[in-house]
Amino acid sequence: MLEPWALGVFTSVDAGLGAGLAAVRELGAPSVQLHAPSPESRGRAAEIREQFAAAGITVTVVFCGFEGESYDDIPTVKRTIGLVPEATYAERLAETKAISDFAAALGVEAIGMHIGFVPEEADDPVFARVVAAAQEVCDYCAGHDQRFHLETGQETGPALLNFFQAVNRPNLAINFDPANMILYGSGEPIEALRLVGSYVRSCHCKDATWSDQPGVTWGAETPLGAGAVGIETYLRTLHEAGYHGPLTIEREISGPDQIRDIRGAVDLLTELRAKILG
Ligand code: MG
Repeated sequence: MLEPWALGVFTSVDAGLGAGLAAVRELGAPSVQLHAPSPESRGRAAEIREQFAAAGITVTVVFCGFEGESYDDIPTVKRTIGLVPEATYAERLAETKAISDFAAALGVEAIGMHIGFVPEEADDPVFARVVAAAQEVCDYCAGHDQRFHLETGQETGPALLNFFQAVNRPNLAINFDPANMILYGSGEPIEALRLVGSYVRSCHCKDATWSDQPGVTWGAETPLGAGAVGIETYLRTLHEAGYHGPLTIEREISGPDQIRDIRGAVDLLTELRAKILG
């Protein structure tokens, strides 16, 4: 059982489970969110489960990622991410179910995904198709007693709420990422969190600065505390929403700077957690 606001790190095992685990242990984080490994590695679920258990680390969410996705720029994201693109939708839906099976084999209670840029108009046929896909994923996950977490970022708070109401499944939840809303220029994250807070079951602790052309070009990701999110206000708003699940640090760079920045985030979150929760 994890403590309230247990620290977590977003991690991957594709580069070798040992290395990823060693870094997480060194950082002292008791939980991780895991990027879904390749189909080949997913066959080693029992071994992966054993290694996390032996390290005393809880995997809280397995995140879906798909072949052909690209975050190069905002138009590319619109074209390639999640269950929105028509050409890959059926195969990605099948792979999502396989990832749900893998998460179940790890004993993990949730899978997560960037579902893609969902059109905001309810009469758009793509909206109906993505709603149906989300329902199908939720119902499949329910068979494993799992939740399906949507990563925020590409939509405004009201659009996300509207999508939730259309999907209408009790095991649909939000992985709230405040930095994504700034990076994509989709609205003030704290305001959105106040709107959708009751659906949040996991979150990312990530920071960013706004683009000078929001929604057209990316903002810039920064170390936690150096961007525009306002991390203390973010945590206080999560607290008000009743969210005390893991605080999962996400820093989307690689190499020694990533470890340095994650360590800084661990320190900042530890300090704020003590200040807010006492
Ligand atoms: Mg994120």
